[in-house]
Amino acid sequence: MPVTVVGSIAFDSVKTPFGERTRMLGGAAVHFALAASFFDDVRVVGPVGDDFGAAELAVLSARGIDVSDIEYVPGGETFFWAGEYGWDLASRETLETRLGVFADFDPKLSAAARDSDVLFLANIQPDLQRAVRAQCDGARFAALDSMNLWIEVARDSLVEAIATVDCLVLNDAELRELTGRPGLLAAAREVLAWGPPGPRTIIAKQGEYGAAMITESSYFSLPAFPLERVVDPTGAGDTFAGGFVGYIAAAGAESIDEELLRRAMAYGTALASFNVEEFGTERVARLSGQEIAARVSELERVTHFSDAPIEMRG
Ligand code: AMP
Repeated sequence: MPVTVVGSIAFDSVKTPFGERTRMLGGAAVHFALAASFFDDVRVVGPVGDDFGAAELAVLSARGIDVSDIEYVPGGETFFWAGEYGWDLASRETLETRLGVFADFDPKLSAAARDSDVLFLANIQPDLQRAVRAQCDGARFAALDSMNLWIEVARDSLVEAIATVDCLVLNDAELRELTGRPGLLAAAREVLAWGPPGPRTIIAKQGEYGAAMITESSYFSLPAFPLERVVDPTGAGDTFAGGFVGYIAAAGAESIDEELLRRAMAYGTALASFNVEEFGTERVARLSGQEIAARVSELERVTHFSDAPIEMRG
């Protein structure tokens, strides 16, 4: 099933203990699209300025991503984000966010984008997420990601946007911030209770610890793929989401049940592990399906155990 994604298309300046990059291709929609492109047709919606060149576009086109819904704004500036990571990569400080062309963006989706069966509202101002959701009202599966900034400056709009999707993907700490509940399970259950309509599946991203999935009747969790060397975590969450949603899209007419969602988590986890090995989109842009499949198998192996009950004292 074709996938439409809206979200930031960006230039990122990133500093980690292992190096830095200035104005590299980034953005939530970009990371998502590259990952999802391993599974199905993907279409990116969003504006860029005339600083966004052919080289940036080529990274998307080379993966077969449909870029015809990317709007060039003459004289405009592409979304810009700068961030710096702490020594263990566990903490990150945003140094600068410039919305640029996103500030006045009024999305008008093409017929093909509107007809997509799968919709991902990647991280961007929630009013824009709602405007796109309203135009894609026939999507069979819609998911949304956001971040602390939007919880802090546009919470009401974000809550309304969340009510329109099937699945919420959010960082663990942001889920707690959104609900004001200190415990992850309680925070997820609160969002589940906002519906219906509203999400039936909550994915809590936990950075280097992996991700958890909570529904009304189930809980599932996967660790991150074990890596010796992580260089730049930027976009890991969006790449995870691209693998997760892309896998669901590729399953086509199959019903979206717990087993499918769990396998989708494994593909998201594998994709994210490649993303963090190099800066920005560098690694995922030259990834192969075979490499992804090998990591999913390895993840299955390292997370498997079988119980052998023993007699307990007491
Ligand atoms: P992640 O590491 O998953 O949080 O995603 C990082 C990406 O999100 C970067 O490529 C940024 O361009 C993008 N980003 C950072 N801040 C924002 C924001 N406020 N709204 C939308 N996208 C953002």
